[in-house]
Amino acid sequence: MGALRAVNPTSVVNLTVHGVGPAPRQLDPDEDGTWVSVDRFERVLDAVTGRDDVVITFDDGNASDVDIALPRLLDRKLTAEFFLPAGLLGQPGRLDYAGVRQLLRAGMSIGSHGWAHVNWRGLDPQRARQEMVEAHRVLDELTGQRVTRVAVPFGSYDRHVLRRLRQAHVTRVYTSDGGRARPGSWLQSRNSLRHDLDAEWIDGVLNSVPPLPARMKKLAARTVKRMRG
Ligand SMILES: [Zn+2]
Repeated sequence: MGALRAVNPTSVVNLTVHGVGPAPRQLDPDEDGTWVSVDRFERVLDAVTGRDDVVITFDDGNASDVDIALPRLLDRKLTAEFFLPAGLLGQPGRLDYAGVRQLLRAGMSIGSHGWAHVNWRGLDPQRARQEMVEAHRVLDELTGQRVTRVAVPFGSYDRHVLRRLRQAHVTRVYTSDGGRARPGSWLQSRNSLRHDLDAEWIDGVLNSVPPLPARMKKLAARTVKRMRG
């Protein structure tokens, strides 16, 4: 696998963390698979420490962002970008305003994960405005900065979603399509941490070269496993 380990300096690996440690609230069915143990989270952080081709992002504004992730990032001198659902802040198990300010003070970046964590495909114009414009205003006010980057809820988008994001002057869009991304590109694919991630998963995500479409990822993972016996 030597050739695949070579780091391509013209591309980055974007990682997405959702929640870490014991879940403090009832999880949605689709969240179950992405909530990772503290131990697995630390293994990922240790693997990316010192790598300038890895970007760490957090979605959903879970309280574990501050309670568990932040001290472990700081221990390793890592920074990350936190995408917050503006309308859910302060709810049980989520970050509150004080938590958001704590992230900023620690040198972390804030982006938008919309308003209410809904699927952005097929939104009516009014909901789209709340998700992609008003959410930013609330986060601007809260952070004292212009929030111009978004992470798409559920990684669910189509050309209409992208058109609306362009109209809203969003400067970067993080999806969940997997594989590597070009550092400066507007659309950035990411790789979500899985609850059952292991050393092989970490190696595959961090050291693979070709950006694989999401639908190919499982097949590719199985192929790699076979090749390794
Ligand atoms: Zn989300």
